[in-house]
Amino acid sequence: MSTSLSNDTIVIGAGVAGLMAALGRIERGERVLVLAKGHGATHWSSGCIDLLGEAAEPLAALQGLAAERPEHPYALAGAAALERGLDRLRAACEAAGSPLVVNTVPPPTPR
Ligand SMILES: Cc1cc2nc3c(=O)[nH]c(=O)nc-3n(C[C@H](O)[C@H](O)[C@H](O)COP(=O)(O)OP(=O)(O)OC[C@H]3O[C@@H](n4cnc5c(N)ncnc54)[C@H](O)[C@@H]3O)c2cc1C
Repeated sequence: MSTSLSNDTIVIGAGVAGLMAALGRIERGERVLVLAKGHGATHWSSGCIDLLGEAAEPLAALQGLAAERPEHPYALAGAAALERGLDRLRAACEAAGSPLVVNTVPPPTPR
């Protein structure tokens, strides 16, 4: 038996990073194949999204972290990209019927 696969993108890994990458491509109309072997951290984690959760004011703490450790992934991504990512994840969870039920990150202040 022969199997013919035709995909625009192949994503390796079915953790939160791989699945969000795949979702982004699907939203652009691409055919996506997700391949994974074994379990990743996502399969064992609590389902809580922790973004500097130990800080009273996570977004303010992010600025301090970026100043102290500019090489940190959160500093490299920047607050705006992190907020966009969280928004996308919230929307994806909502659409999947498993909404993130608690949001400890205050909404951005209108300018
Ligand atoms: C016990 C535990 C609790 C946690 N609790 C929290 C929490 O409360 N809050 C929080 O924010 N974060 C938590 N984390 C961290 C969070 O889960 C990870 O940061 C996040 O899931 C990483 O996602 P990822 O997609 O980068 O990697 P992963 O979820 O590790 O995904 C990697 C993917 O690659 C696949 N893969 C690996 N090797 C191969 C291979 N050779 N071939 C094909 N596929 C492969 C794996 O099967 C998996 O699908 C926790 C982690 C653990 C383990």
